[in-house]
Amino acid sequence: MRELILITLFGSDKPSVTSAISEILSASKANILDIGQAVIHENLSLGMLIEVPDGEDSSAVVKNVLYRAHELQMQARFQPIDEKSYDEWVSLQGKPRHIVTLLARQITAQQISALTRIMSDYGLNIDNISRLSGRVPLEPTSTSRACVEFSARGYVEDVSGLRAAFADLASGLDVDIAFQEDNMYRRTRRLVCFDMDSTLIEAEVIDELAKAAGVGDEVIAITEAAMRGELDFQESFRRRVSLLKGLDENVLAGIAEQLPITEGAERLIATLRRLGYKTAILSGGFNYFGRYLQSRLGIDYVYANELDIVDGKVTGEVTGRIVDGERKAELLRELAAKEMISLEQVVAVGDGANDLPMLSIAGLGIAFRAKPLVRAEAKQAISHLGLDAILYLMGFRDREIAH
Ligand SMILES: [Mg+2]
Repeated sequence: MRELILITLFGSDKPSVTSAISEILSASKANILDIGQAVIHENLSLGMLIEVPDGEDSSAVVKNVLYRAHELQMQARFQPIDEKSYDEWVSLQGKPRHIVTLLARQITAQQISALTRIMSDYGLNIDNISRLSGRVPLEPTSTSRACVEFSARGYVEDVSGLRAAFADLASGLDVDIAFQEDNMYRRTRRLVCFDMDSTLIEAEVIDELAKAAGVGDEVIAITEAAMRGELDFQESFRRRVSLLKGLDENVLAGIAEQLPITEGAERLIATLRRLGYKTAILSGGFNYFGRYLQSRLGIDYVYANELDIVDGKVTGEVTGRIVDGERKAELLRELAAKEMISLEQVVAVGDGANDLPMLSIAGLGIAFRAKPLVRAEAKQAISHLGLDAILYLMGFRDREIAH
């Protein structure tokens, strides 16, 4: 009769453990039904579920593995598995898989405890845990990145309850938690669309222009109301631009050079470019600054508003169609069609209420350092790390990225 045995080996990591053990197993013509290993701080844990065919001596297999493990200074454990429980395990294969990503400056036991408790409460069974961030220095800095990814399976009946529990936890413990379906699109995105103001740059350009024009307070008040979703974007935009009338064109270049680029933006875009992703700025701000960032960061497409300038002076008008929330979503669809990819393969990132339409249609829509109203509406949110944390949500590890 065939026998199923789960072998677990652990001890300090050394080369060719897998080869040495498999060699013994091959003498008994064993099949490998499952195999996995993890190395945590140079300690190896290797698991193999083997099938010893009928006619082979399983006790000899156990004895020989035990002997070899001893030589390798590793511990070995053997567990017989009955065929019925194995068949049950195989039948679980169809359960939906999910990825839960925990992002913080530093990972604490409290975060992991609370997060995994919520996962199990909502029916998710973890089958893999992996650190995506690089090796963690003992003294975190204000720009440290830490990320742990949980792969889990299970039917979640109350998805909104799960999301709400994650959101509560995230705001309570100063972390970000992303919950995604584990599907083939996750690592095959092709286009990333960015909002500009307060997303790619840590500023609202129109406020900077207003300060230069001496109408700062009036414009900031209108901007804030618009970002909270209290004012129609087009109307508020025209009102703000009209206040800029008479501003000298030369002021624009000075403001562009002073724009603070958001933490992680350069690393993110350089990485995306290297991997062949297309990038776009879809902005309710101004083309002038979008084009400046395009050449500085190496972005493929820019769509924003054209500030009308006559005789070197801002007229207070915008020419062409205003890019509002609906237009952003429309442009995202157009770019996806142009690139011949599905919307599932698009990532959209933004902080404002006018970004919600594009965030909602993209395969991965991320509210970035957004106001609570926007964060609550978006499926994913990053508030505690820089823009390059998006790479973790796409499944990349720091060690795969050379800076
Ligand atoms: Mg914005």
